[in-house]
Amino acid sequence: MGNRDLFDIASKVLPGGVNSPVRAFKAVGGDPLVLVRGEGPKVWDADGREYIDFLASWGPLILGHAHPKVLEAVREALDRGLSFGLTNPYEVEIAKLVVEGVPSVDMVRFVNSGTEATMSAVRLARGVTGRRYVLKFEGCYHGHYDSLLVSAGSGVATFGIPGTPGIPEEIASMTLVVPFNNEEAVKEAFSRYGEDIACVIVEPVAGNMGVVTPKEGFLGFLREITREYGSLLIFDEVITCFRVSFGGAQELYGLDPDITCMGKIVGGGLPVGAYGGRSDIMTRVAPEGPVYQAGTLSGNPVAMAAGMATLKVLKEEQPYGLLDSRTEDLARGVSEILSERGVPHTVNRVGSMMTVFFTDVEVVDFETAKTSNTDTFSRFFRSLLRKGVLIPPSQFEAWFVSTAHTDQVIEEALHRIEEAVRDL
Ligand SMILES: *Cc1c(COP(=O)(O)O)cnc(C)c1O
Repeated sequence: MGNRDLFDIASKVLPGGVNSPVRAFKAVGGDPLVLVRGEGPKVWDADGREYIDFLASWGPLILGHAHPKVLEAVREALDRGLSFGLTNPYEVEIAKLVVEGVPSVDMVRFVNSGTEATMSAVRLARGVTGRRYVLKFEGCYHGHYDSLLVSAGSGVATFGIPGTPGIPEEIASMTLVVPFNNEEAVKEAFSRYGEDIACVIVEPVAGNMGVVTPKEGFLGFLREITREYGSLLIFDEVITCFRVSFGGAQELYGLDPDITCMGKIVGGGLPVGAYGGRSDIMTRVAPEGPVYQAGTLSGNPVAMAAGMATLKVLKEEQPYGLLDSRTEDLARGVSEILSERGVPHTVNRVGSMMTVFFTDVEVVDFETAKTSNTDTFSRFFRSLLRKGVLIPPSQFEAWFVSTAHTDQVIEEALHRIEEAVRDL
């Protein structure tokens, strides 16, 4: 069966035909894809068409699709059984890799998704401080946990839903939302609610309103003001950990959050999340401490094997310089192509994550991200797709470059993008 037939059936048995909203292509129009295979930097759809893939499963696949070492580790784990429900050696080994690699993390707890990681991190922060409020930033996405699904960027922004039905006002009212990169707004929130703020949660490099870089000093300011008021600082590094450097944005910028949330790359393509931090905080988690959090399949051996193999390759190869220069080539190339055609744009990039905004305004927060012309984005997306380049089907997302995107692949992608833009 081809894309259309499969998606027709999907639409009858899955809400919107999907298991996660942005996959339905509602923001860009046209028929959604059903993908059947991936290898290295490429994917194939159910009609047999090939695409150079910058969606990369929304971030986990920093080594590209079906990396041989990851597959080998998964096969080895598979042969020993799928789940035990007690501690297995893979959990121990990957935990060591995380603790050694991520500067502020002394201990880590594995869960099954990024959402679970942020949810558990916020509970821990509330449990440790005995306070109720969470401060987050407009346009930052931390998964679909009730307390954090307020002004939450991509999925929500894409559909223009103000928050979502199903979250009681009482819960939403315990979340304070201020603009990203805005120190004054943070100061004001702290001067009003400071004694009751359990934590500040932030994507240290925002990726879910499109890529937005922290202004110089902004993250350091968050570190200081949270210390001053006795609140905890949570870095949501679900995208950035092992992406912008092995130790995440905290290593890149030299910062020291209290709790770090991980996901995506840490599972190597299987469903894994994690949260970790200093021992004095993590020992408050059950069973060592009183803050309850559990999971039947948490630390699943097959998932841990995929994550462990991914982290091992990254640690050994340290591909971050290479990823940085290739993504810079891609960003510069796309910018030149759009400039030649006189299309207003701004490209934001940190390491191997980037977003092309269709605006000539500097994008520093969600307000400025929204100045992007989403009609132009939709046409750009569909035109790229016709030429065999897959990017995320929403303006407010990041493109991801993997180690499988060689110089040649980037060159080929730019060639296809140039043809696509000619037809725009
Ligand atoms: C993807 C993402 C999440 C949620 O992770 P899921 O595995 O989709 O639940 C949380 N925070 C950030 C920054 C993310 O990009």
